[in-house]
Amino acid sequence: MSDWELVIIGAGSAGLAAGIYAERSGLKTLVIEEKIAGGITAEAPLVENYPGFQSISGSDLAQKMIAQAKGVGLVINEFETVTSMDLKPEPKLIKTKNARYEAKTVIIASGRHYREIGVPGEREFRGRGVSYCGICDGPLFSGKRLLVVGGGNSALITALYLSEIASDVKIAHRRDTFRAEQALSGALKEKANIEVLWNTEVRRIAGEKLVTKASLFNNKSGENKELAVDGVFVQIGEDPNSLVAHDAGITVDEYGYIVVDTRQRTNIAGVYAAGDVSNNPVKQIGTAVGQGITAALEAYAYVRRPYYWK
Ligand code: NAP
Repeated sequence: MSDWELVIIGAGSAGLAAGIYAERSGLKTLVIEEKIAGGITAEAPLVENYPGFQSISGSDLAQKMIAQAKGVGLVINEFETVTSMDLKPEPKLIKTKNARYEAKTVIIASGRHYREIGVPGEREFRGRGVSYCGICDGPLFSGKRLLVVGGGNSALITALYLSEIASDVKIAHRRDTFRAEQALSGALKEKANIEVLWNTEVRRIAGEKLVTKASLFNNKSGENKELAVDGVFVQIGEDPNSLVAHDAGITVDEYGYIVVDTRQRTNIAGVYAAGDVSNNPVKQIGTAVGQGITAALEAYAYVRRPYYWK
């Protein structure tokens, strides 16, 4: 049994930013990370929109954050999975497979995961032509031929965004109607360089060093064809890593994202959420960092009760 003033769940951008602020403020802080530290940021091939770095790989940016966090003395336990939490009592209890931790406050920064189509080549070419984030990776495909997979809002917003950058964009959707809002499907019609491939399933993504083609199957005609592409943007939804928090009584929205207020507070006192697991609509490294900082300062105030805090 260990006593901590703050336990942060997740060592992505939000968790690391929270950890740096908390540790520097003097809170005894532990970060628990299921995999290796760095989070989804570490998977981005290139980050060109995080202020202070004109162009940096996600992995380098994540390593800098980790080094800074460790440099201020933050303890990060990697490969430790939180299995349950009891958040209402004081202190709060966090159980992992092999340990139990007591904490005065908790920040949940467990991130989200992209849904995969689950075809050969998808994982192999992730970061080498397969992407799950148009805003992050789109600018790397200037003048290229792109395929977007999906038929919801994310797919159409991504296709519209990419059409300004790429030479042409095809959308492969497995049915013959979109799930997306009408305004978005209307906007597609205005774009000469977007083509919709209805009833189309991606069966394989292939290439050499980088993606060069996708194998498509038309589930209405039964026809198979190969499409030459430089990039495949999978946009079939995503899920927050919020199950354990939900089981512990934290309120989530209809999509499973943890509901927070502008100070990152959840429905349970002393428990905060930051980054992609929270219901903030913008999911970027910069916003995750900002939310992590806010959550850490709130946790600090909750523990130390400074005179200025309300
Ligand atoms: P979504 O609405 O769940 O759509 C996912 C799409 O991917 C659907 O068209 C689905 O096809 C397809 N799909 C799912 N699994 C697939 C698979 N294994 N293979 C091929 N296709 C697959 O997800 P989303 O577009 O990410 O949106 C999630 C939520 O966020 C939605 O409620 C959306 O409205 C909201 N959102 C809002 C905005 C906004 O600006 N307002 C932006 C983005 C997202 P089927 O249609 O056949 O099921």
